[in-house]
Amino acid sequence: MRNLHPLRLGAALAALAVMLPAHAQFEAAGERSPPLAAHTIYANARFRTTEGWATHMAVHDGIIVAIGTAADVEAHRTVDTRTVEFEGRTVLPGLFDMHIHPGLSGMDRNYCHIPFPPDLAAVQQAVAGCVAAKRPGEWVLAKAYQADQLGVPYPDRAYLDAVAPNNPVFIADFSGHTGWANSLALRLAGVTDASPDPANGVIERDAAGRPTGVLHESGMRLVTAIIPKPDKAVIEDAVEWGAAQLLKEGIIGFVDASTTYDQLQAYASLADRGAMKQYVRTCIWSLDEDAIARRNLYARLNVRPDCVKIFLDGVPTAARTAAMLEPYTGRGYVHPGAPDKGILLVQPDSVLNAQVAAFDRQGLAVKFHAAGDGAVRQGLNAIAAARAANGPSGLGHSVGHTSFIVPEDIVLARKVGATIEFSPVIWYPGPVVGDIAAQVGPEKMKDYYAIGSTMRAGVLTVIGSDWPVVPPAPMTALETMVTRQAPGGNSEPLESGQRIPLEDALRVMTLDSARQLGIDNLTGSLEVGKSADMIVLDRDIFAIPPTQIHAATVLATYIGGELVYRRADGS
Ligand SMILES: [Zn+2]
Repeated sequence: MRNLHPLRLGAALAALAVMLPAHAQFEAAGERSPPLAAHTIYANARFRTTEGWATHMAVHDGIIVAIGTAADVEAHRTVDTRTVEFEGRTVLPGLFDMHIHPGLSGMDRNYCHIPFPPDLAAVQQAVAGCVAAKRPGEWVLAKAYQADQLGVPYPDRAYLDAVAPNNPVFIADFSGHTGWANSLALRLAGVTDASPDPANGVIERDAAGRPTGVLHESGMRLVTAIIPKPDKAVIEDAVEWGAAQLLKEGIIGFVDASTTYDQLQAYASLADRGAMKQYVRTCIWSLDEDAIARRNLYARLNVRPDCVKIFLDGVPTAARTAAMLEPYTGRGYVHPGAPDKGILLVQPDSVLNAQVAAFDRQGLAVKFHAAGDGAVRQGLNAIAAARAANGPSGLGHSVGHTSFIVPEDIVLARKVGATIEFSPVIWYPGPVVGDIAAQVGPEKMKDYYAIGSTMRAGVLTVIGSDWPVVPPAPMTALETMVTRQAPGGNSEPLESGQRIPLEDALRVMTLDSARQLGIDNLTGSLEVGKSADMIVLDRDIFAIPPTQIHAATVLATYIGGELVYRRADGS
């Protein structure tokens, strides 16, 4: 029994309860069973509980049977009980990342990387280096450029042609919503001066109408569709690597925010060989009808393909593809033909409303990509329409990223029971935020990542790193939710009124995330009856200045009482 995944154990217990004859249930009521023998007692820790602190925990088959003082767990000790000494270490519930792309991150290892700051010389040098390692005609895939850092009026394919005349090149920008191709890549993709913009996408053009090589949103797929696909083993290895990196960060559950059919298969295969330890929800791209129809072929106890991802807009950076309620007013870099208020990818609203209501009826949770306040409103309205059509389904539909949300829509989110998801690691001051501020202007920045407001309004609030956009750094996320400053306090705060206490920040990354996934009866906090899902830290983040939290290190990660990660030096 010991290696049962906690979800399997839960199912077994439920089956047992059903089999009990009715009278036995009445006889059992009110009587106490003898204490369960602890397979393991974790001793002398500082366990963070929902009530405060505890020092000892007794675990039977991966489930917490007692937590409190040394005396509280003693009744569970037998001669076979193993004791794990925690030497005063701080132990938190395991963390969740509610918007992440582990498979993509794993694939990134094969990409050509542009060093920061990505000025034109750095881009050209990096691409030239990668071209040198390839045969003519082979694809060069790179990341990540940032249009406003290049130091030229706009990115143009000629800059790439100069260093890669004989290899097709495609560089994703840091957001992943825009890409930059050289001339050979455009030619292979059949993009010419006469090519129209695809639905929901933009082919950027210069003043003469010639494509510059920069492609936004679905425009990118003109090129990405012809890049040779990696084989299954490579994809599975990428997902496995990504999930293992997350265990090192103490992440015991996550939402894969845009899962391809290949990745669905990879998750199932990894779960079958015991290599997928976390609680996983996969959100399948809404337009991939085959993957959605086949999803339950790849459902496993801890891998639930019960979510669809709908992209409503792009990003509020120099691409200006995030759909805003009001026009962009910032004075930053603007590309030729930039849309006035960004782009709504699904139009009209009635199409989206019908789509969301249909997914809701099927029991599928919807996760929107919505960065601009216009897209956020459209998503919330669609959730409202689904609730009106189907009644309360209990499904936690979520609006993801939510870079901008206006106050009246926070009220709407609460009313329709929507979950708001933020991406906190990119909300502290830095190059990405600087780019966004330059596009929307200082006044609009007051609505940026309004986590304090959503929490105070009682909206279920979760966060995600969006790795590989930024690294999955949960300690940095915790710190910057508290400080709204660059790590270490090294900047002015970004709207200090949106700061939240550490206690709340931790709850966002634990219990509230588990609640969003519908598994809060099993995990999300350290209490009797729940799975022993926990992380051991090298310091007590509640006892140090908040500006030092980012430096805290995970020494060990446990899921269902199983040690799934331990830092190599063992300290
Ligand atoms: Zn994402």
